[in-house]
Amino acid sequence: MSRFWSDIVHRLTPYVPGEQPVLAHPVKLNTNENPYPPSPRVVEAIRRELGDDGASLRKYPDPTALALCEAVAKHHGLRIEQVFAGNGSDEVLAHAFQALLKRDRPIRFPDITYSFYPVYAQLYGVEYETMPLNADFAIDVDDYRAPNGGVLLPNPNAPTGRALPLAEIEVLLKANPDVPVIIDEAYVDFGAQSAISLIDTYPNLLVVHTTSKARSLAGMRVGFAFGDPALIEALTRVKDSFNSYPLDRLAQAAALASYEDQAWFEESCAKVAASRDRLTAQLQALGFDVVPSAANFVFAKHPAHDAATLAAALKAKEIFVRHFRLPRIDQHLRISIGTPAECDTLVAALTELIG
Ligand SMILES: *Cc1c(COP(=O)(O)O)cnc(C)c1O
Repeated sequence: MSRFWSDIVHRLTPYVPGEQPVLAHPVKLNTNENPYPPSPRVVEAIRRELGDDGASLRKYPDPTALALCEAVAKHHGLRIEQVFAGNGSDEVLAHAFQALLKRDRPIRFPDITYSFYPVYAQLYGVEYETMPLNADFAIDVDDYRAPNGGVLLPNPNAPTGRALPLAEIEVLLKANPDVPVIIDEAYVDFGAQSAISLIDTYPNLLVVHTTSKARSLAGMRVGFAFGDPALIEALTRVKDSFNSYPLDRLAQAAALASYEDQAWFEESCAKVAASRDRLTAQLQALGFDVVPSAANFVFAKHPAHDAATLAAALKAKEIFVRHFRLPRIDQHLRISIGTPAECDTLVAALTELIG
């Protein structure tokens, strides 16, 4: 606290990211990073952009990230005016709160969801209501039919991993024609259906993507929004009133190269999905209830073992998983999918702790 703080800063409750341990070889299954490196073409592209002497770094990057946006538009069958790039999808979401969700009625999102949403709402003064997930942690789209200021949800949801079929997303769009509907597809490539195909039909739909999870580029900070040109223009107006150069040169080059290696991307998503299904079965064999996941993490609860105690015992073995001290989910662990060897280390540790 300080008398130099603005009123809003006094009132903020900032987001707390998962721990980034400073250890030589932690088994890090707490922040949904990809266990596999990005395509070798990404590394080459960064080296090429840097050159021998780093001279390119003297100059500002392209403020519009045009080459990257063109490649991503082509990849998804969109027009360039339907694509926005930002410094991680967190920044894209933040701009969406200010550009699209600040309205005369509260927006709606699930009670159990990405915990950054209420933080942005507070930062930008956006009123919201949370809609309880049902007992199986599924989203009921009927909860989003009453008049509201906009709808925001991840598909698959986080931290549950449960996905909604595309037909349900369409129900949501039909029920909310006059407000923005934002679908955060951070984990879509691990097994859910993207709503990008609905963009030409629904001018109120904004789909948000990231390169942090399926494309192994969390360290580069690149995210996107896809939607009607009017929605994209709103985001661009906010961006150009905040930071004209959100993506640095190396990030633009790296992300572009990632979209040029489809085979690498598909293979690493398939490996993660296979490990997820194997880990799910192993956790069930240990007595865990596991929410069916379409993401690169599982959400699991043991009927006889306290989640916080388990998380602490795993941490003592340098195995990091995520535990949220929040209503309804304080007995769950969110476990990111690691390499097969990392998953085996986790299962061996859990077997020792509860077996
Ligand atoms: C990880 C995550 C993001 C943030 O991704 P960045 O692009 O790394 O900022 C956004 N939404 C959800 C649901 C996430 O889990």
